[in-house]
Amino acid sequence: MQMIWTGLLLAMTVLYSAVMSGGVSFTAPCYDDSVTVRLEERGEVRELSLQEYLTDVVLQEMPASFEEEALKAQCVAARTFTMRCVTEGGKHENADVCGDPACCQCYLDEEEGRGIYGADYEACREKVRSAVLATDGQVLTYDGALIEAAYFSSTGGSTESALAVWGGDVSYLRPVSSPEEPRISEVSLPFSAFRDMLPLSDLDGSPSAWFGSMTRTEGGAVETMVIGGKTYSGTELRRIFSLKSARFTAAVTDENGVFEVP
Ligand SMILES: [Zn+2]
Repeated sequence: MQMIWTGLLLAMTVLYSAVMSGGVSFTAPCYDDSVTVRLEERGEVRELSLQEYLTDVVLQEMPASFEEEALKAQCVAARTFTMRCVTEGGKHENADVCGDPACCQCYLDEEEGRGIYGADYEACREKVRSAVLATDGQVLTYDGALIEAAYFSSTGGSTESALAVWGGDVSYLRPVSSPEEPRISEVSLPFSAFRDMLPLSDLDGSPSAWFGSMTRTEGGAVETMVIGGKTYSGTELRRIFSLKSARFTAAVTDENGVFEVP
């Protein structure tokens, strides 16, 4: 199984700015145990406590080897996301959340967990469970309401505004510096793949002329880029080429088109 950590190096700054303006609410111990989450997985819906659910979410969203405080931050973000789905309704008719990270949040069942963590599964789950318990009931609010606790694995150095990503403004989701260790990821594909993946572009001419003008958002992500005469949004290209973020550069070598994400 391929390990996918979609987890956050949480736009910590986003989280903190929300804390500053809205606040973390503390509730009575074992709040999480009193909340029932309806989880849809593989076509079935089952109910489990928020405490159990969050443990298996965070175990997948962030490596259990991460620092305790990072795990706690992830717990607060995941709890906030979940509580919005529970209290305000999510994307599913008969469930609060699903286990698809592209839709809701990752969820790691025991079998998958043992496949990933092996003999360390119990110890890792216990470590994450401690972070869930230590943050019991804590959520992020803004003006008294649960925030849109969007999180992601890598920022490329800066978060992005909601307006640039989703097209709608969310007052507390602003581009802020989010430094992280350089981890350049590269997607390099032969020219034939570009022709397959971008059928609406005119890619008959020399590849050196394929990549045209590019605009960037305030946060530094690609807003638009012209390829083969067609204008794409940065988020479109990110999705098409499975890039880690829309903060990419693009170049053409002798044989390949190459995207680099810092
Ligand atoms: Zn979902």
